[in-house]
Amino acid sequence: MRPLEWRLFEAGYCTHPERMTRRGGRWCNCQFPALTALIRHPQYGPILFDTGYSEAFMEATAPLPERLYRMVTPVRLETGRTLREQLRRQGLEPADIGLIVLSHLHGDHIAGVRDFPDVPLLCSSEAWDDMRRRGRIGALRKGLLPALIDSAKDRLQWLEQRPEVRLAPPFAAFGMARDVLGDGSLLAVPLPGHGAGQHGLLFREPSERPVFLVADAVWSSQAIRDGVPPPGWVTGLLGDTGEYRRTLARLHALSLDAPEVRIVPSHCVEWRPDV
Ligand SMILES: [Zn+2]
Repeated sequence: MRPLEWRLFEAGYCTHPERMTRRGGRWCNCQFPALTALIRHPQYGPILFDTGYSEAFMEATAPLPERLYRMVTPVRLETGRTLREQLRRQGLEPADIGLIVLSHLHGDHIAGVRDFPDVPLLCSSEAWDDMRRRGRIGALRKGLLPALIDSAKDRLQWLEQRPEVRLAPPFAAFGMARDVLGDGSLLAVPLPGHGAGQHGLLFREPSERPVFLVADAVWSSQAIRDGVPPPGWVTGLLGDTGEYRRTLARLHALSLDAPEVRIVPSHCVEWRPDV
């Protein structure tokens, strides 16, 4: 596996009670950053994993009933903090990005795709088909805002069409992955339970440590360490509680078997990058 440089960006955050993300957690409001990753491949160039919040999210959740999304999880996106603006300050223009991999289609992961207008998008066809078959209310109840990605559908490519590879230890419990670039450097790993078709990304950083970006398979690194899931009604509302807990158990076991692996959830404050 060829090592890849990477770094995280925070593109806005939302607040809600910790109790919604952790069984027995606190009722007070906590911040949940929307983390995205920039991965640099020596041949394919800069690749993004998810896009965080953006102005498009604010527009899509301005009318009712979509406004309920923002009322349940109030969102804060400060001036100059969209992913596109932060990348520009790093000298990267939207056209420099070679590919955006979308872990799943929840609004807080795809809201920025409009800011990268010509970049191919790679996601699971299972996630797309699941979203397409829902009506406006049915999609919203699952945290989906189709308006954020409808205009980008010509750019979509499917993970299911990438070569399938069997994961080796210590990742074998996650089954088969998709080889995103065809060179084994970047693998999309299924993480079922949270939302339809969710995939994480697995690669090796230059220090040789494996990095496993696990999207919303868990809300925090603490949950991986102690194996405590969110309340069943939350995971049941968004996806499948049984699958969610099996995925969490695999991540918990991985953290014990291979502590050198950096396991990075999308909304964990422990991974918040310095501004
Ligand atoms: Zn999600």
